[in-house]
Amino acid sequence: MAAGKKILILGGTGEARELASRAVEKFGTGVEVISSLAGRTAGPEAIAGSVRSGGFGGSEGLAAYLRDENISCVIDATHPFAAEITAHAHAACLRQDVPRLLLERPPWDPPAGGRWVEVKDMAEAAAALPRLGKRVFLTTGRRVEAFTDVPDTWFLVRLMEAPAEPLPLADHQVIIGRPPFDLADERKIIDEHRIDCLVSKMSGGDATRAKIVAAHDAGIPVLLIARPFLPLGNAVATVHEAIQWLEARL
Ligand code: NAP
Repeated sequence: MAAGKKILILGGTGEARELASRAVEKFGTGVEVISSLAGRTAGPEAIAGSVRSGGFGGSEGLAAYLRDENISCVIDATHPFAAEITAHAHAACLRQDVPRLLLERPPWDPPAGGRWVEVKDMAEAAAALPRLGKRVFLTTGRRVEAFTDVPDTWFLVRLMEAPAEPLPLADHQVIIGRPPFDLADERKIIDEHRIDCLVSKMSGGDATRAKIVAAHDAGIPVLLIARPFLPLGNAVATVHEAIQWLEARL
């Protein structure tokens, strides 16, 4: 393995954190592992290796960063709904001829016999909601404005951090929580708040799967927002495969 190489991990997910830790462990001090965060979360969890924070300034800014920092390869381990940074990474890596891998967790499969409704975006989810439930567990993040005009509905909104401004929802309660989530806790939330519909992005992966299982067990519908289109290129589904890809390139 060549010393002095630099890996850039585009992060903000549990998989990205795990990858940074495994890469530091695997490649030691000969390779610099840099994780990049958008800088939206006030208290991000500790990450192995170096960390940089904040946007690059579009695909051109990212291309300049790759060139100036002499990055050897990029692993895009961002969330499946972080489509903008993924498109920028695709373009910037092509431009600088830097190998890029997408680490994309698999989507969830519909549970057998479950009530599973897939829609293409938040607006469709809001339009579908009145026929699905009245006490809704909303787990799609802090951008909830699509649901402002849904009539006669109470929302339990789970966020990673308390919102800076009041949410634009008439009737709601906010709870704070960060993945991974536990099945017993998700069941308790659904039960105690008498939830009759779960709304989620099709995030996939293990860290947030418990709510899907808990909703299925409770017999309530799951309203899922489909993933945005991502420019795929080289893609793997696990941290283990991403480490193998790195080994072949360093
Ligand atoms: P996005 O819409 O794809 O990105 C918007 C802009 O934020 C990008 O153009 C880029 O700014 C900056 N950015 C995003 N991720 C970055 C990163 N890892 N490092 C440096 N800059 C980054 O992203 P998003 O959906 O707002 O997500 C932001 C972050 O939160 C991502 O890192 C993602 O992994 C994480 N996250 C997102 C979700 C979700 O549901 N979207 C869920 C969990 C975690 P410039 O153009 O200036 O470079």
